[in-house]
Amino acid sequence: MLLLNIFCIISKGSVKYNFIMKIYDVLILGAGASGLVCAAKLDKKLSVAILDVNPKVAQKLKISGGGKCNITNVHVSEYNYDGDSEFISASLNNFSKDDLLNYLHVNGVELELRKNRYYFCKTSSDEIINILKKDTDYAELLLNRDILHVSKKDAVFEVKTLKDIYKAKIVVVATGGKSYSALGASDIGLKIAKDFGIKVKEFAPALVGLTVQKEQFWMKELSGLSCYVHIKVGNKTLKEELLFAHKGISGPAVLSASLYWQRGNIAIDFLPNDNILELIKDSKKLISSVIPLPKRLSKALLEALHVEDIECKKITADIKQKLEKIHNYEFAPAGNFGFSKAEVCRGGVITDELNSYTLESLDVKDLYFIGEIVDVTGELGGYNFQWAFSSGVTCARGINSGQY
Ligand SMILES: Cc1cc2nc3c(=O)[nH]c(=O)nc-3n(C[C@H](O)[C@H](O)[C@H](O)COP(=O)(O)OP(=O)(O)OC[C@H]3O[C@@H](n4cnc5c(N)ncnc54)[C@H](O)[C@@H]3O)c2cc1C
Repeated sequence: MLLLNIFCIISKGSVKYNFIMKIYDVLILGAGASGLVCAAKLDKKLSVAILDVNPKVAQKLKISGGGKCNITNVHVSEYNYDGDSEFISASLNNFSKDDLLNYLHVNGVELELRKNRYYFCKTSSDEIINILKKDTDYAELLLNRDILHVSKKDAVFEVKTLKDIYKAKIVVVATGGKSYSALGASDIGLKIAKDFGIKVKEFAPALVGLTVQKEQFWMKELSGLSCYVHIKVGNKTLKEELLFAHKGISGPAVLSASLYWQRGNIAIDFLPNDNILELIKDSKKLISSVIPLPKRLSKALLEALHVEDIECKKITADIKQKLEKIHNYEFAPAGNFGFSKAEVCRGGVITDELNSYTLESLDVKDLYFIGEIVDVTGELGGYNFQWAFSSGVTCARGINSGQY
């Protein structure tokens, strides 16, 4: 079938390309969550091909959440994202978390609710991948295609991969972020945007653990311990578990906090459900014994606050003041664990460059950007797959609405 489409082999420098003469209606670059959803929702009368460097589709969807992917959340709003709220809500309203839950339900995927807010697959994320495969089986799936460059001439796009050149009237860039490069991730989407003069924000690791400075090295000594905390970053407060790690701090609260932290201080409340002054009041015990945290953590915290572990009844006003810092332990992280450990990337195509109702470039007609390549990043908790689905559907509807 493909061979029929190859009319000539052209040479560019020392490299020979198979030049595919067929002009597709739509070429989708990237067979991850957003690319597949977009293809699934396109009008089936269109000739569509999906290109990906991987030998298999949706590799991040497959491995995320321990193979059961956290697909969405009970509470989804534009405020769970770093990005332009109005822009984000246009896609979330177009395909909401209820629309996503309904799509999965009618296709027989059973979900389970964890911690009363995170929706995970009950069996396996393969179930979602299989639905997407079924819904895109009308399209040509062109795997093992490493996309190198996209250009446009006379209203036709040319997509150059390592070996072939494909043509299309419409191109949808769904190449994701560049974290977890072992899963095929790259920053080709940014390169494509820049080549067309579209403004981008460079990628930075997000949903990632934070490293600490010397004064907080005590945290590394607690590697493996976790506790429920509130973390304040700017005007956001993240309420979840913190995990001490040998490189610094991690766990859901820290991963979400990393989305909003670039430099400067964060503040941790280690006892959000208690009041330290109430706990020590009238007690004859040692301070570390009344703090409802693992003993090792209580002792380390006292040391960090320069408080001696004495009997509560001996506590002075000065010590009380220091102890109150347990509710507001402020410090500046040193950095983060880097792209190889980041679940997503902050940054991408600047949203001012896109039509929020279609995700088409405002300057380059028929060029669309969806999913993580757009400068929209969700907190931990299913928000990034929700964005991949919402933006993918929004784009498909934009294309279906007669622009081809
Ligand atoms: C370990 C891990 C766990 C995660 N867990 C969750 C979770 O539980 N819930 C959640 O909401 N989010 C989670 N995420 C984030 C989520 O996976 C992404 O936000 C989402 O997959 C983005 O979808 P996308 O379609 O934009 O990009 P992707 O799913 O990354 O798809 C992009 C596709 O483009 C292809 N591609 C890239 N460059 C090229 C190239 N040069 N040539 C050809 N193809 C290329 C890639 O191979 C890939 O298939 C997790 C991420 C990771 C890494």
